[in-house]
Amino acid sequence: MDLGLQGKRAIVCAASKGLGKACAMALAQAGVSVVITGRDEAALEAAAKEIRAATGVEITAAAGDITTKAGREAALAACPDPDILVNNAGGPPPGDFREFTEEMWHAALNANMLSPIAMIQAVLDPMIARRFGRIVNITSAAVKAPIPILGLSNGARAGLTGFVAGLARDVAQHNVTINNLLPGPFDTDRLRATAAKSAAASGRSIDEEVLVRGRQNPTGRVGQPEEFGAACAFLCSTQSGFIVGQNLLLDGGAFNATM
Ligand code: NAP
Repeated sequence: MDLGLQGKRAIVCAASKGLGKACAMALAQAGVSVVITGRDEAALEAAAKEIRAATGVEITAAAGDITTKAGREAALAACPDPDILVNNAGGPPPGDFREFTEEMWHAALNANMLSPIAMIQAVLDPMIARRFGRIVNITSAAVKAPIPILGLSNGARAGLTGFVAGLARDVAQHNVTINNLLPGPFDTDRLRATAAKSAAASGRSIDEEVLVRGRQNPTGRVGQPEEFGAACAFLCSTQSGFIVGQNLLLDGGAFNATM
């Protein structure tokens, strides 16, 4: 399917690894030139090289912490007027809410609510003027099915979700769409870091832990980042202009509901 994105420009935040990188790869495969961000410069350059080699399109690495003003400015300097913005950042740490300090709350709100909103604010009006824009926020399945130990994530991401629900309806008339992708378990470094902890406790290998985790899912497996990237690219396509303000759960059916 031709997504109609040839020659368009995107910023994909937090994209040297995992889900962000998969989104950048899928967009590049559709002919989009992409600016990717990440804090570790070497990992970011390696990802840019890999995506460039696989697709032949222009991939620019803009190193920086996207939760800081400087990090966002670096991304926007590399691509001041993107047609596509994919918001992403690391998730807040798990924990007992009794131990969450005000600082931890501010960090979570900054990373998973205020930073994506700041990026949206920076790119939205030019998108409206051009009558094309696609914004995708990577959030979490925990927005829909809260995970008690992820209180910081549940709270901060719900704030972003509530904010963009209103904004999405306001800007849709200009062919600018805002949607959220909610990952369940995907086989990324992040998931493997969690698996490493349970592997230490169970005596199994990390691969075995990932298999065990997958068996708990209706599909019998965990998701592959490429599957996530493909969904992101479709939400960014020219054909997706009638998909507005949605929260698309990519969890293999783990959330058990009729609708
Ligand atoms: P990952 O494999 O650990 O990759 C995270 C990527 O984000 C890396 O490229 C990392 O590079 C970059 N990054 C992290 N913090 C950043 C920052 N402040 N500024 C710029 N770049 C940053 O993680 P993932 O699994 O793709 O997860 C992506 C998001 O989805 C996270 O918010 C996560 O909580 C959420 N999520 C993931 C899953 C899952 O199963 N994978 C499930 C639910 C929710 P640097 O470290 O070099 O900056």
